[in-house]
Amino acid sequence: MTHHRPFVDIRHAQKCFGELEVLKDISLQVEQQQIVAIIGPSGSGKSTLLRAINDLDPLTSGEVWLDGVQVNKLLPHAQYEKHINQVRQQIGMVFQHFNLFPHLTVRENITLAPKLLKGVSDDEANALAEQQLEHVGLIDRIDYHPSQLSGGQKQRVAIARALAMKPKLMLFDEATSALDPELVEEVNQVMKMLAEEAMTMIIVTHEMGFAESVCDRVLFMDGGVVVEEGAPEVVFHNPTQDRTKNFLRKHL
Ligand code: ADP
Ligand code: MG
Repeated sequence: MTHHRPFVDIRHAQKCFGELEVLKDISLQVEQQQIVAIIGPSGSGKSTLLRAINDLDPLTSGEVWLDGVQVNKLLPHAQYEKHINQVRQQIGMVFQHFNLFPHLTVRENITLAPKLLKGVSDDEANALAEQQLEHVGLIDRIDYHPSQLSGGQKQRVAIARALAMKPKLMLFDEATSALDPELVEEVNQVMKMLAEEAMTMIIVTHEMGFAESVCDRVLFMDGGVVVEEGAPEVVFHNPTQDRTKNFLRKHL
């Protein structure tokens, strides 16, 4: 019998920062093409969990697997560097603050990683940039600098940049939290489009309506544990845990 290992498989994740235990035995499995939302109060460990997936915040104990490969395996330094670069190329990450390089144009922001990390030619990298900018509706901004874009446009460029690496998995950490309210929708629309294209995504968000409309599953975290998880209809409208109910009372 072959054992099925989920596409993303986080097993008994524990993370301590010194004395502080920020993730307490968290397990999370995500299948290919699934979209999982992570919600919960500030400080509950959402970002730490997301960053553990590509080993930016290495776990204290527990395992992270992506597509059959253990991400956080112990390797001699040189081997680890090679391994983790390979893993990170498969994972697109979009943060609250766009992290675009301000001195580079939109085109250069997008072509940089494919050229540097994958050895893609200039022509190919340009084609990728154009394709991804078409995708997010910003082809006319290709030669602009980030400072010439709105927050929503910057975030769409950040998404295009991640997509240019052809990731298998996209991680979003409060991608719309820093945006003016009127700019949130254009970024949500891009994420919805990715959902329709069957991208596998893990989305940390404060937007319950958005989470409910695009996600297959919702995890509610508090104090470093998963308090409750399930289908959006259930977690949002029929939660069983008092902590979930209290949180949603403030955020729905
Ligand atoms: P969330 O994203 O849910 O707001 P985080 O994962 O950012 O929560 O943080 C969880 C807890 O871990 C918080 O108490 C935070 O202060 C702490 N923390 C996060 N990163 C570090 C770090 N690098 N060093 C020490 N403590 C940290
Ligand atoms: Mg966070």
